[in-house]
Amino acid sequence: MKVEKEYKIEFAGLPLGNNNIQFHVSDDFFASHDYGEVKKGNVLIDILLIKDETILVLEFELSGQIELICDRCAHPMKYELKGLNQLIVKFSDNESSNTEEVVLLKRDLGVLHLAHNIHEFIHLLIPPKRLHKYGGCDQAVMHKLKRLKDEKKFINGDPRWEGLKNLNINN
Ligand SMILES: [Zn+2]
Repeated sequence: MKVEKEYKIEFAGLPLGNNNIQFHVSDDFFASHDYGEVKKGNVLIDILLIKDETILVLEFELSGQIELICDRCAHPMKYELKGLNQLIVKFSDNESSNTEEVVLLKRDLGVLHLAHNIHEFIHLLIPPKRLHKYGGCDQAVMHKLKRLKDEKKFINGDPRWEGLKNLNINN
């Protein structure tokens, strides 16, 4: 997998202490994952990697823009992404596993692959409601929605049903 290879840190060669690393993901990154809501975007990932003899702590700062689908008009919308995340890497002599918070890594591998984590972190920053800013929704769709709403109002206000309101069903 090409993308997986691009987002790696060869930590074995890094000095102990603080290290700054920067990655950038764009449309091809999202296209290479066949899961996930985000299909397009431009995100900068600033990483502070603190290296110790037994552990690596990675502080992620994500900022950029992704494309989401608006809940109201179902058209694409740009969303300004900003957020932090952390990853802790512990060394093991025999096992490697990658979960959301702690990565267990065989020490002699010397390389950390972050494509999965970056993809996950971006998705964690998606808001629960995706909505265009006021007035930004697709006008044709909004027009149609308004018409449907008006038609519903008309039916609710139909005088033929008025008599039913006075019926007392308990009698
Ligand atoms: Zn919208």
